[in-house]
Amino acid sequence: MSDQNKIAESIEYVSKNTDIVMCDGGSGNLGHPAVYFKFGKKKEIVCNYCNKKFIKKD
Ligand SMILES: [Zn+2]
Repeated sequence: MSDQNKIAESIEYVSKNTDIVMCDGGSGNLGHPAVYFKFGKKKEIVCNYCNKKFIKKD
């Protein structure tokens, strides 16, 4: 119980050609309205609803 708060967090690896990812939190309690994130020059994106991480594969 003394551990720091653990947020349900997951990582999804996407192709390096991907420019836009969609996150809706998945099914169940973590679901949230669908949002879209653009990579632009970034290599990873964190969903600000559910903290899911999208990482571009090399
Ligand atoms: Zn999300």
